[in-house]
Amino acid sequence: MGDGRRCSDHNGEKAGKDGQNSITFIDGLFKDQNFLAVTTNWYDDSGHMAEADIQIDPSVVPGGYNLQLLVEHEVGHLLGLDHSGVLSSVMYPFVGRGGIAALDSDEKLAIAELYPAVDPMNAGGILTGRVNGDGGGIFAAQVVALNDKGQPVAIALTNQQGEFELDGVPPGTYQLYAEPLDGPVFLQNLSGIWQTAKNESFPTEFADGGPLHVEAGRIYGNLVVNSSGTTTLNPKWIGVSAAAGSDMSLGAMPIVVSPGQTVNIAVGGDGFVSGMTTLEIPNRSFRRTSNFSYAGNYVSATFNVASDAPSGSLTVLVKSGNQSAALTGGIRVAGSARARVVRR
Ligand SMILES: [Zn+2]
Repeated sequence: MGDGRRCSDHNGEKAGKDGQNSITFIDGLFKDQNFLAVTTNWYDDSGHMAEADIQIDPSVVPGGYNLQLLVEHEVGHLLGLDHSGVLSSVMYPFVGRGGIAALDSDEKLAIAELYPAVDPMNAGGILTGRVNGDGGGIFAAQVVALNDKGQPVAIALTNQQGEFELDGVPPGTYQLYAEPLDGPVFLQNLSGIWQTAKNESFPTEFADGGPLHVEAGRIYGNLVVNSSGTTTLNPKWIGVSAAAGSDMSLGAMPIVVSPGQTVNIAVGGDGFVSGMTTLEIPNRSFRRTSNFSYAGNYVSATFNVASDAPSGSLTVLVKSGNQSAALTGGIRVAGSARARVVRR
């Protein structure tokens, strides 16, 4: 689904370990493979990164793909970042023809953690805890710290014991949720130990205890997300059109909306039930102005976006009966006209 093309990292074709970090363009690099670029990282015996090379297929330009976004993505690999399950993230494994080439909150935090300019404890709070399933801790669950504007600010994956740690979380009010990486991003899109994890289906659940007020320099421990059973609800695609009734295509890429717009937003996937499944954008700038409509395996509604809607990415929540699920980073709000005239 969608027009995204995959990034293949750690593939190693033709790049060479020569002590120099390089970015090269090579014609026909990934002919017929649906890849646009590859970054290869080399590590020394102590596990420190020794070198990274980026190779890009120039067909990205005539193909109309977002070159800036692609290069930012590969530089993210060069710096040591893995793929992200957040649709709006630069490290999302698919690059499309549109999109906004700006780092998302979770990758800013990830880069700051790898290359700290200040003591991480001074930058924000630390949230630690565990995701429990029926068989104990869930491995490779995506844990999201969602702020009170509905923005996925920080992301972590749980380790083999189901434990997670979110570092440098900016002061604010958050709700934590855990979700499976069951599409559009799968564990196989990640590297290293994540590929050994089993794709488990578990319901998206919020942490016990309600909203958490985070202050810089503090540690919040023993946060627990309990998720039992399995789920059939799995949002995978999102689409937007100017108004209800006009053509809409859904894809596994984030949609971009601008402040002041009235748009029809649709979300589709598995387990959607006509008349029962609803979608919610937990941000006060999005006001739903229609009833839900259903067609095929998707639900849609019209939303009015306030003219002062903050730019950034948003999570879309889907509910169906007693099941809930998230499309994390499914919406990118473009910068407002006011923000664009700010001069440096
Ligand atoms: Zn990649």
